[in-house]
Amino acid sequence: MTAVVGAQWGDEGKGKITDYLAQQADLVIRFQGGSNAGHTVVNEHGTFKLHLVPSGIFNPNAICIVGPGTVIDLPGLVEELEMLEARGISTVNLRVSDRAHLVLPYHIALDRLDERERGRKRLGTTGRGVGPAYSDKVARHGIQVYEVRDERRFRTRVAHELLTKNAILERFGDAPLAPVEVADAILAAAARLGDRIVDTLPLVEDAVARDGRVLLEGQLGAMRDLDWGIYPYVTSSNPLAGGAAVGAGIPPRYITRVIGVVKAYSTAVGEGPFPTELTGRDADSLRERANEYGATTGRPRRVGWFDAVASRHAHRLNAFTEIAVTKLDMLGTYERIPFCVAYEIDGKRTTDMPPTAIVERAAPCYEELPGWGCEIGGVTDRALLPAAAQGYLRRIEETVGAPVGMVGVGPERTATLL
Ligand code: GDP
Repeated sequence: MTAVVGAQWGDEGKGKITDYLAQQADLVIRFQGGSNAGHTVVNEHGTFKLHLVPSGIFNPNAICIVGPGTVIDLPGLVEELEMLEARGISTVNLRVSDRAHLVLPYHIALDRLDERERGRKRLGTTGRGVGPAYSDKVARHGIQVYEVRDERRFRTRVAHELLTKNAILERFGDAPLAPVEVADAILAAAARLGDRIVDTLPLVEDAVARDGRVLLEGQLGAMRDLDWGIYPYVTSSNPLAGGAAVGAGIPPRYITRVIGVVKAYSTAVGEGPFPTELTGRDADSLRERANEYGATTGRPRRVGWFDAVASRHAHRLNAFTEIAVTKLDMLGTYERIPFCVAYEIDGKRTTDMPPTAIVERAAPCYEELPGWGCEIGGVTDRALLPAAAQGYLRRIEETVGAPVGMVGVGPERTATLL
């Protein structure tokens, strides 16, 4: 079994790598997060931005699961399936875990309220209700997907939750939500999904018993992990491979391959420390060249140089069997490329990732690596990459601590070198 996880701040290109590997998979599972993801897939069917649907959906022979560790905005999921169907992609093989938690309209309202009230200390969430839905799950107020099967009970649950939620919304000047409308919207979407809402454990067990190929698709990256990222500028779940075991319902010892996805440089969406961040013209030039705008929100992404401290931190937590480096083609025109190998904090050099408030004081220590000064978008064999590009990949291996197994030189599935 293979887990594909982010080894930076998210948006590393996990969608592309998952789509590539999913051609050979029997089961593809999204194990955490919600529709705040924006996994971009470019293949023979076109360009797609997937929010909740696993990037394996393009393989008609694979079963795709929105796993028990996710939080699901059912109307949003139905919309995403309709978009795929309208573009000729069959979604009959999609299954939704009946244990996953629902994102309800009040979570979306509370997400926006929370961001507004944090003011300058906002987190930069996508406003999709993911954080509040996970908060309810942990506080034992969550509603699980299976609960839609008992309509009367479900309506009572929603009305009960709205007593406190509406009080908060009104206290801060927002409009209260009507229980009937909230429940109707979810029930209508659930009806559209019908018997695709299932207990996913037998599917996983069956795949294990048949020695099937299972792919676990993470969302966001290690720096946004709830426990190991830059708290509180994190997501409300665990994008690490450890989270994959729990969130997909897979005993950890079955996960034998862990692919850490990194961009050849760094990007971040949302707030929080980002030591190698570029500003001004340097940032604009990299952002424009590399088209770094959020897949879910269209927000310009923060951009910076490769940060080996961050990705080494990810490797220490994930034990990558290999690294997939994406967007190497975006660095083609630089003569020299700054590459962060350590942080200097209060006069001391370190390669360990400290807690958030200390990362905020970290100054990146750069090496200047030679650029290759040419386009590599058309290269079809890794051995044919320019020597400087090979050297750049070697430096990633040395500083992060795991071998580079895949290299992306373009957004298309085919632009992947092994
Ligand atoms: P994810 O959320 O980790 O799947 O990443 P996103 O989809 O948000 O962002 C990655 C972006 O980079 C998408 O627009 C991809 O199409 C694109 N991409 C992925 N790999 C490559 C690559 O090797 N080269 C280029 N040029 N683009 C890539």
